[in-house]
Amino acid sequence: MAALSRDDAEDHAAAPEVRVEALERLLVERGLIDPRRIDGIVERYATDVGPLAGARVVARAWVDEAFRDRLLADGTAAVQELGLDGVQMERLVVKANSDEVHHVVCCTLCSCYPWAMLGLPPAWYKSFEYRSRVVREPRRVLRELGLELPDEIEVRVWDSTAELRYLVLPQRPTAAAGLAEEELVGWVTRDAMIGVERDLREPAEGGGAR
Ligand code: FE
Repeated sequence: MAALSRDDAEDHAAAPEVRVEALERLLVERGLIDPRRIDGIVERYATDVGPLAGARVVARAWVDEAFRDRLLADGTAAVQELGLDGVQMERLVVKANSDEVHHVVCCTLCSCYPWAMLGLPPAWYKSFEYRSRVVREPRRVLRELGLELPDEIEVRVWDSTAELRYLVLPQRPTAAAGLAEEELVGWVTRDAMIGVERDLREPAEGGGAR
């Protein structure tokens, strides 16, 4: 085993993007990966995936109780019914909000996130502030993010990992009663599926998943 050195310590402290770049360069040099393929994957998550996939899942669960049950029992299998891929390498667990319970998702260790459902995570999700504080003082963090929860609603915080990604199933807004599944998709926001938003409002004209 190699002895530790100051250089090692500094390497470990390097910003994630520096480490990722170094890792990518090494893999390319060794012919293990094609950089164009990596750029393609990043591009796909940055522009194509977005929160729309998650919004489709939520809207289906609002109109189809049997699907909702399957989604809560085995999220990975249920989203595949909708033709959504990209979750094979991880397990998706869906937590449903109720009148009594509010769920919120984080990754205390790094920034694990249901990419295949929500696209790229927002910057605050990856911040040290959010990761370290939401588990200790969730109500306060939620309040700072604009969500004031009454005391009688219990808050549950779910810590994601590389193997396990969480998605919050928000409650169907009463104002959206009677709407068709396709219309409901527009009501679902990314932040509600992370759990930092709770009461969904009618989307602005022409609004898609936000
Ligand atoms: Fe992580």
